[in-house]
Amino acid sequence: MRATVIPAPEPVLLDVMGETEQFPVRRVYCVGRNYADHAIEMGHDPSREPPFFFQKNADNLYQGDSFPYPPLSSSVHYEVEMVMALSSGGADIPAEEALSKVYGYGLGIDFTRRDLQDQMKKMGRSWEVAKAFENSAPVSALVPAAKIGHPQDGAIWLDVNGTRKQDGNLNQMIWKLPEIIAELSKLFVLAPGDVIMTGTPAGVGPIVKGDKITCGVDGVGELSLTVV
Ligand code: MN
Repeated sequence: MRATVIPAPEPVLLDVMGETEQFPVRRVYCVGRNYADHAIEMGHDPSREPPFFFQKNADNLYQGDSFPYPPLSSSVHYEVEMVMALSSGGADIPAEEALSKVYGYGLGIDFTRRDLQDQMKKMGRSWEVAKAFENSAPVSALVPAAKIGHPQDGAIWLDVNGTRKQDGNLNQMIWKLPEIIAELSKLFVLAPGDVIMTGTPAGVGPIVKGDKITCGVDGVGELSLTVV
């Protein structure tokens, strides 16, 4: 590699359960309103409209035990989501082939500055300020699909200070895992290292400093964080 005129950015690397090697992140895609009950709670029609996507930055992902409350918001919401990590990609991937592109799964939280998102929605502006801020996507260790298969049925849940707030099932996804990859690959050329956050069930809500968040996806793992 040729020398760089400024220091090159550090690669974003995620731990994989049971492996010494890490998973390198390229891009982070997120699916909006992919559980009917969450679409309803956000005031939308849960019918099967084409899925929509937004992005976070690769370096918004991190593995740690705390979440620093971000600036410029007084309404930061949790959204627990299963995460897919791709080992290969392409354009126009048929749904029947899509799961062969998945390296593994994890779970994460799509933290959202809801007050800023509401403002952006009202003004018809894009969501980056609400979604793509620093530390906005803590994630668990990934688990290879070779070990657990492709989880499409099972509890997805989140507790705040020991109280259950989100209590869904992966089988409630409006767009299923292969369909998410197929649809996304019509819009973008997917590649190894891409991470997809697959949407959140109902029960999203605000957090405050000091809150203890625990969340999990059956068969995939758990994640615990303190809001600092
Ligand atoms: Mn989300």
